[in-house]
Amino acid sequence: MKERERTFIMVKPDAVQRGLVGNIITRFEQKGFKLVALKMVQADEELLRQHYKDLVSKPFFPSLMSYMTSGPVVPMVWEGDGVVKAGRTILGATKPSESAPGTVRGDYAIDVGRNVCHGSDAVETAVREISLWFPEGVTKWDSHSESWIYE
Ligand code: UDP
Ligand code: MG
Repeated sequence: MKERERTFIMVKPDAVQRGLVGNIITRFEQKGFKLVALKMVQADEELLRQHYKDLVSKPFFPSLMSYMTSGPVVPMVWEGDGVVKAGRTILGATKPSESAPGTVRGDYAIDVGRNVCHGSDAVETAVREISLWFPEGVTKWDSHSESWIYE
């Protein structure tokens, strides 16, 4: 089966605590994207520092670190045509005050510092984030829905 575009989606600690893991997964599943990796981890600062390497000099970086290490996260890899851009659309704008209703952040978040989910912002970013969070690699499997989702 053809290998399609991949993105890195991560349920953040607030969403794990609030019982939103299933809801977020469902949105990607029902769209037709294929789940190829998923786990629960307590991330350490070193990993998060690499993940958010472009933000280390931002004033909110220390609070971002304490937020992201405050509990377990659920990193995942989703596969499908256009999944990077679609993933960002499903999540909504970074600031929940600007996220449309119907998006994950629009429906479940108020504060930018508790915005419930991460999604890669570009295909190259996704490649980097997937290898950072899943050095063990992702699963290969054939979805029986393939021909019902793609022409
Ligand atoms: N963030 C924050 N305050 C800000 C901007 C960002 O706390 O003013 C946090 C927020 O959790 C965001 C993360 O830093 O999701 C990464 O920021 P980025 O600009 O990459 O947004 P994203 O790609 O997550 O939408
Ligand atoms: Mg980002």
